[in-house]
Amino acid sequence: MTQQTPDDARTNSPTTGSDALQPIRSGEGANIIGPRNLTREAEDRDLVRPPKTDKGSLPNMRWSFADSHTRIEPGGWARETTVRELPIATAMAGVNMRLDAGAVRELHWHKAAEWSYVLKGQARITAVDGDGRTFQDDVGEGDLWYFPPGIPHSLQGIGDDGVEFLLVFDDGNFSEDNTFLLSDLCARLPREVLAKNFGWPEANLADIPKEELYIFQSTVPGALDADRTTGAGPVPQWFSHRMMTQEPQCFQGGSVRITDSQNFPASTNIAAALVELEPGAMREIHWHPNGDEWQYYIEGQARMTVFASGSISRTFDFQAGDVGYVPFAMAHYVENTGTTPVRFLEVFASDRFTDVSLTQWMALTPHELVAANLNLDRNLVDAMPTQKYSVVPSSEALS
Ligand code: MN
Ligand code: MN
Repeated sequence: MTQQTPDDARTNSPTTGSDALQPIRSGEGANIIGPRNLTREAEDRDLVRPPKTDKGSLPNMRWSFADSHTRIEPGGWARETTVRELPIATAMAGVNMRLDAGAVRELHWHKAAEWSYVLKGQARITAVDGDGRTFQDDVGEGDLWYFPPGIPHSLQGIGDDGVEFLLVFDDGNFSEDNTFLLSDLCARLPREVLAKNFGWPEANLADIPKEELYIFQSTVPGALDADRTTGAGPVPQWFSHRMMTQEPQCFQGGSVRITDSQNFPASTNIAAALVELEPGAMREIHWHPNGDEWQYYIEGQARMTVFASGSISRTFDFQAGDVGYVPFAMAHYVENTGTTPVRFLEVFASDRFTDVSLTQWMALTPHELVAANLNLDRNLVDAMPTQKYSVVPSSEALS
């Protein structure tokens, strides 16, 4: 017999037993009587029982780093989300990496631009540009770094417990396994060429690694000032930025911090927003006129519906450690569906953050026209805010 559960029982449903979430909605559907992956279904409630408004087929727009292969190396690990894992995500790829205290992501460079958000702990990061100008800094939770394509750099965990961070690259095909590594370079060139290049006898190179290191355990470096090299002076645009110390745009129900090339000038290929939502609050319905959005959920639980035009929309659920993706121009909202705050990053392969607010668009279009389009009372349209509210509060907070 088909078991009935309320349509709007979004939270607090048991994940096991006969009361588990069922694909039953407004008297339609039927309960699952075959095998179930209850923990996965509990994470994907809006796939098991989609809102009635969801329609048509959309590519998958959610991936969890929990489903990515973890590359384990001495002193750390890395796992990535590329087009291999999430095929729709062609514009950007992400890596979640951990470096224990003293562990090093070895000296390297790559073709893509690298943007990073520090999730926990502390790191020392270094780079040198083509004019011999140098960069060294220590970064902590909530800080960003950005390395332009081709600029060689290093990362090292410092402090008591090292660091964990998120990397985003402006190419969905980018893989952390295909970077230009110092050790690999030296292993792949004739030994006499290396010796000639450095003006050394070959014997000096007897112990260089025969294979790439990628991540290796070393010791925690001393004070930053003692570690500095100067060269031709500092890089003209500093490669780190304190995102969390930015004054946020505050709204009833949450806040937004935007970092792009206007306040982080080095970051010419990546723009981002850090969004915080209280329970029930929502990142308003909007879209982006300048490219795809790559999301990373830092904490909390949320859902997002993506409207793809042509009567197609689908709802996806997210939690900490998940990646979301929204193709160019598709409308979406992100709603906190849990009982704790949501924090997530919206990242763009662009020099600037920009979005179009549905509410603001309607409020700034001739009101009679908007009222006629949606068959609304003109007074409702007249009262819509012309200012952008990037976050809207929960319905309870309004009543
Ligand atoms: Mn890198
Ligand atoms: Mn967005």
